[in-house]
Amino acid sequence: MAKSKFSENLIKMKCGGCSRVGYFTRKNKKSTEKKLVLSKHCGWCRKHTSHKEAKR
Ligand SMILES: [Zn+2]
Repeated sequence: MAKSKFSENLIKMKCGGCSRVGYFTRKNKKSTEKKLVLSKHCGWCRKHTSHKEAKR
């Protein structure tokens, strides 16, 4: 019953401060055209930064 659809929409979230990939998230196909920007806590910057989606 394992589905591989999960990885299809899996995207990396890249920190805007240090450009490290700290988060992974999934995204709906409907919103694929828009670039995701999320405010996340970066362990490297030790603060909240805007994380943008990075290409695989
Ligand atoms: Zn960072």
